[in-house]
Amino acid sequence: MRPLLSVDEYRERILAAVPLTKPADLPLDDAYGCVLAASVAAPAALPAFPSSAMDGFAVRSADIAVATKRLPIRLRVTGEVLMGAAPGSPVEQGCAVAVPTGGMMPAGADTVVAFEGCRVEEGTVEITAPQRPGRNVRPAGEDLLAGEVLVREGRRLGPADLGALAAGGASAVRVFPRLRVVIFSTGNELVEGGRQTRPGQIHESNSFMLRGLVRRAGADPVYAGRIPDDAEAFLQAISAPPEGDVLLCSGGVSAGKDDPVRRAFAGSDEVDFIQVRVQPGRPQAFGRWAGKPFFGLPGNPMASLVSFELFVRPALHRMMGLPAEVAYLQATLDGALEAAAEAVRFVPVRLNRDGARLVARANGDRRSNQLARLARADGLAEVPPGRSLGTGAGIRVVSIRDDDPLHSRHSGPLV
Ligand code: AMP
Ligand code: MG
Repeated sequence: MRPLLSVDEYRERILAAVPLTKPADLPLDDAYGCVLAASVAAPAALPAFPSSAMDGFAVRSADIAVATKRLPIRLRVTGEVLMGAAPGSPVEQGCAVAVPTGGMMPAGADTVVAFEGCRVEEGTVEITAPQRPGRNVRPAGEDLLAGEVLVREGRRLGPADLGALAAGGASAVRVFPRLRVVIFSTGNELVEGGRQTRPGQIHESNSFMLRGLVRRAGADPVYAGRIPDDAEAFLQAISAPPEGDVLLCSGGVSAGKDDPVRRAFAGSDEVDFIQVRVQPGRPQAFGRWAGKPFFGLPGNPMASLVSFELFVRPALHRMMGLPAEVAYLQATLDGALEAAAEAVRFVPVRLNRDGARLVARANGDRRSNQLARLARADGLAEVPPGRSLGTGAGIRVVSIRDDDPLHSRHSGPLV
């Protein structure tokens, strides 16, 4: 008899067994979404040199200390700073140098008078008010001093982090690289897309959904193709997989007489077959094969999706140095959902914002394997065992999309 585990127990078991990925140096451009494996310090101050925060004239504040509208101070314009170039000679007493925003401050000057406050005339500039030192000047090291941490270990690199690393001069960074997840589908009934199905056959669809889920989890999918319901063929395929870090297989884990995953690993102690108190998604397989974590998900599309979100995504995240918790959204139910006696149920819902609240709209209970219904849903609402829920109930939802419902064009009931 297969062990019967709760969702949390099964996930814990998986998380305890998966290894952390080996860090690697990736070009900055490939590192988006990866977790930084070692803090990066700024090799130089940021910014590295003092620059002007305005288009104006770099001057000595002492020179204009007594300037007024009635008695302006006239300075001689001795030059111009160009973007991307070091300034020429220093600003001498009684002189001014034109400087653009971001241009390096010339030596001697300690303040920048904005163009708007000046009257320029034949090589001179008239200034009508004093200005404190440092005004309109961005000092060197204002953002960060040399040697300070620019981006900390454990940070998942987002757009601003990549910008900061690039600003610090980095071209490669040490990260936990995106995992390559090798995907197999099993089933004699499966026909590749684009081909005609005969009676009894269906188009293979899980690999596309799983490839999307893998990408959404921040990993890279590698599709290894369809395997017939034959234990030998399955073992052969799974033992010589395309290059990758994780093996993910859909279908064939039930107790059916032709279920190839089940039959291939019968008697092996490397892959366990487990029943999880979840609906859909009860039969599961997990272990190590060919030195890699192996996940066998039930083939029913909705079951595959639920299993991925509850078990595979947390494992991939853990391996890539990310938090492994399932990121449930809190929502208020609109509709009624019937509980199962002994299993957590997951039901497709549409999400809408209602002020600060997230409303999950269910539309009756249907059979769980309806893909078209999933394609209209935003999330999977969790119905705890034995606790049927009605409108107004607080529920947890696993999001299956990345777009915020606020920005969604398809709001409306799930039908
Ligand atoms: P299984 O887990 O192999 O018993 O499959 C359960 C159900 O999911 C069956 O109706 C299969 O036809 C269907 N199924 C299995 N694998 C796939 C797949 N890759 N694409 C679409 N449907 C699938
Ligand atoms: Mg099958």
